[in-house]
Amino acid sequence: MSRISAENMFGIYIHIPFCRKACHYCDFHFSTNLSNKTEMVLAIVHELHQRKDFFYNKSVETIYLGGGTPSILSDSELSLIMETIHLEYNVNPEAEVTIECNPEDITLEKLSHFKNLGINRLSIGIQTFNNDVLQFLNRSHSSEQADLAVKLSQDLGFDNITVDLMYALPGSNLDILQSDLDKTTSLEVPHISAYCFTLEEKTVFGKMAKQNKLQKNEDSMEQFHYEKLHKHLINIGYEQYEISNFAQNEKYSRHNTAYWFGRSYLGIGPGAHSFNGRSRQWNISNNALYIQKTMQNDMAFEIEILTKNDIFNEGILTSLRTKWGIDVKKLFQQSNIDLFKEKHKEIVNKKNSGLLYQTESNLFLTEKGKLLADAIIVDLMI
Ligand code: SF4
Repeated sequence: MSRISAENMFGIYIHIPFCRKACHYCDFHFSTNLSNKTEMVLAIVHELHQRKDFFYNKSVETIYLGGGTPSILSDSELSLIMETIHLEYNVNPEAEVTIECNPEDITLEKLSHFKNLGINRLSIGIQTFNNDVLQFLNRSHSSEQADLAVKLSQDLGFDNITVDLMYALPGSNLDILQSDLDKTTSLEVPHISAYCFTLEEKTVFGKMAKQNKLQKNEDSMEQFHYEKLHKHLINIGYEQYEISNFAQNEKYSRHNTAYWFGRSYLGIGPGAHSFNGRSRQWNISNNALYIQKTMQNDMAFEIEILTKNDIFNEGILTSLRTKWGIDVKKLFQQSNIDLFKEKHKEIVNKKNSGLLYQTESNLFLTEKGKLLADAIIVDLMI
């Protein structure tokens, strides 16, 4: 784990809550109404100024522009945000700086601008290369645009690229997944995030399912898709360092890994979360209210002081899905709760069922356990 285990891994997350179209499966916080985009950028910049003491001038090691669709920002809007971060925060010159992009936004001009701003990692939302499925999902790009976006980025010298894929998608099947995997492999990106489709109630798909217009996936479909994906990526040399994340040559996402290790992060923008080891805070998830309150220096967030139980549960939730597992000694130091004692019976049962294994101080999911990770995590929490 080398450089990512450094104690002082502080990250800034900026949430850009706009998208061109609403994907039918997505329940993130975003709006397709771009009329107040400029005001939103000014509010984000204002919040960056307001919260400049969050890290007490300690070095910021990662910056992550997520959303929504950050690549929707104009060059001047993005410049303003990045300049404000560098003005107000102590950013390590070697920091990992990631921007999430949708393929249709990627042009040579845009990529050059990213480079000039010090952005050194691209997260490209592809999901699938099948045009019929893309259309069914209401994505705003085609397979050809996705292919071109990755190639243009590589031509311009971006070597730290991750692509997002989804599996067990409605309208997809194992053949489509295989061709997604073949296509992705041919692009030779060092990192892939692969997420299982989940049906969220408040989305278009959620509403369709309620009206019996969309069939829910069988559990076996998710399992078959996951197994195919896992086998393919491991066979060609990717390392699964978190259930949904695969990397070559340790090109891990430093930002997400720091989060899984329980490091502090500052979340800016509507709906963004912050964490400082003792409390969690989340900004209001309403664009107009966020802008109004932030510009009036009003509190646009809620805060929760974490109890020992919260810290214990958070530690399990964030670390069990990783290849480093739960560091039980560290979790005890943080929460004063000994996982091995507290959940002795559950751990023994799950070890006997081949779902968990342990070393002297760490607890890990087995390959079989990864398929049931969510349920196992719930059982280990208090
Ligand atoms: S582009 Fe991303 S954030 Fe926007 S609706 Fe689609 S999946 Fe959600």
